[in-house]
Amino acid sequence: MLNIDLHCHSTISDGLLTPTQLIDRAAARGVTTLALTDHDDIAGLTEARQAAEAKNITFVNGVEISVSWRNRTIHIVGLNIDTNHEPLVQGLAEVRAGRAQRAENIAAELDKIGIHGSLEGAYAHVGERRLIGRTHFARFLVEQGHAKDVKSVFKHYLVKGKPGYTPHQWATLDDAVEWIQGSGGRAVIAHPGRYDMGKNVLNDLFEAFCAAGGSAIEVITPSHTPDQVRRFALHARDRQLLVSCGSDFHGPGESFCDLGQLPELPDLCNPIWHDWPMHNRIPVNA
Ligand code: AMP
Ligand code: MN
Ligand code: MN
Ligand code: MN
Repeated sequence: MLNIDLHCHSTISDGLLTPTQLIDRAAARGVTTLALTDHDDIAGLTEARQAAEAKNITFVNGVEISVSWRNRTIHIVGLNIDTNHEPLVQGLAEVRAGRAQRAENIAAELDKIGIHGSLEGAYAHVGERRLIGRTHFARFLVEQGHAKDVKSVFKHYLVKGKPGYTPHQWATLDDAVEWIQGSGGRAVIAHPGRYDMGKNVLNDLFEAFCAAGGSAIEVITPSHTPDQVRRFALHARDRQLLVSCGSDFHGPGESFCDLGQLPELPDLCNPIWHDWPMHNRIPVNA
């Protein structure tokens, strides 16, 4: 029986577990195939692959790239990427480079409402300084008593229209897809149900993604309702896109869903692993 989880984070970006700890947890939960998909960074893949080999888990090289599209931030997961592909390596470095200045801007916004020391406070929560992001600010805000947990921070801070928000330019959709596909990997639109988009804009996004050469939609993700799962599965079928699934696990107590605890894909889906060695069966996830 296969248990496939193709989206999660380690301390390299905004996860709470090191790549090795993450693999140990995945193994304990019966995961047979795991992709580590840190935000804008591939530095955890070597360690994770080694740990996965020791636990007999099939490991998939992954990444989750931050993209700006029509003034919105969306996320593109890359699976089976070649970590030596120069345009990908260079592109990710450029995406990461903007994070330090953005963190200063976020801290300046929080200063305006009387929350001081957030820059140092957020950096105290990072694994890798170059990957400073909103989750690290969220952990600081929880620690300081401004919210009860990370999820509630994102209701009151750090998002459009709330304190601590700053706009930011990430990669373009075309570039992110090209870096991934050009490396021999497959690009996946991550958690499409989480973008605040009407039906027409979402359709445009799928069109643009297909035109850029993207391969798949992440249909199974914890934030999707059963109705969204069905709708996105139909979108994928109609556009001849593959489908993917992932827990988007960030750490114990901080995630909607633990590693490998995902519902099955709807029958009508063509899974992204359909042509992977040893994966040509529909999995029955726990
Ligand atoms: P960044 O890449 O710095 O903009 O940070 C994005 C990260 O913030 C996401 O990957 C999530 O880990 C976290 N995040 C964003 N929105 C939420 C939310 N509503 N609840 C929990 N975490 C969130
Ligand atoms: Mn994250
Ligand atoms: Mn994401
Ligand atoms: Mn993610």
